[in-house]
Amino acid sequence: MKKENNNLKSPMKEILISSLAYSLPRKFLMNRIQKKLYKEFLEKDKEKFPRKVQEDKFYMARNMMYAIDRGLRRGQISKEVWAKFMDSFKNIYWKRTDKIKAFQEKYGFKPPGFVTISPTKNCNLQCIGCYANSFRTSRERLDFEIVTRVVREQKELWNSHFTVISGGEPLVYKSQDKTIFDLAREHSDTFFLMYTNGTLINEEVAQKVAEVGNITPAISVEGFEEETDKRSGKGVHQKILRAFENLSKVGVPY
Ligand code: SF4
Repeated sequence: MKKENNNLKSPMKEILISSLAYSLPRKFLMNRIQKKLYKEFLEKDKEKFPRKVQEDKFYMARNMMYAIDRGLRRGQISKEVWAKFMDSFKNIYWKRTDKIKAFQEKYGFKPPGFVTISPTKNCNLQCIGCYANSFRTSRERLDFEIVTRVVREQKELWNSHFTVISGGEPLVYKSQDKTIFDLAREHSDTFFLMYTNGTLINEEVAQKVAEVGNITPAISVEGFEEETDKRSGKGVHQKILRAFENLSKVGVPY
């Protein structure tokens, strides 16, 4: 039986990852991933999940992949950010299956692919109908040592290197003198998808996102200026556009 190579530092994998900065090998890998995603979401366990939900998952994952490819082709993602991004992202794709199997044997079900953490309920905005019931004066937050422990344990227990940071607004989070950037630095082998309203991403913050390299901001916009400002407050749409500019300048995908 062919043995799976789970050594994440294998030189062949490192070479393959570096080559993905170029469009031809990237195209090849994207085709492979697309087929894998299709099989995973739309052919496997057909009866288990509603077709529409699975289609949405497939298109979302595929669109993210194409957005990254577009960013690289247009030079909107810097080589440094790409290298750091892949360094953490590769751990999602090339999983060590022994830990996953051990988890499944112990608990009788597959471990989750990722964990979502809301480290704070505090937010600098107060949107109508906020899904997280967040507000400016909220003091509810998790201690940094708890947040970092969750990220560490998802790696140790079932080798998950993908964490979603949700809100409140992650960029206002501060606990035990640590921020979201300290979390990203402490777990440079984890990929963080950070839901943010974007209004705090000035040039300095964008630079920090570029430096850590393993945070991808997912910025919420309600639509055009009228819809966004109506729900989130006057001037928010303009601030979001500035965040896009600031991130583009330092080559960070969003
Ligand atoms: S930005 Fe998000 S977390 Fe903040 S108030 Fe609006 S919906 Fe809630």
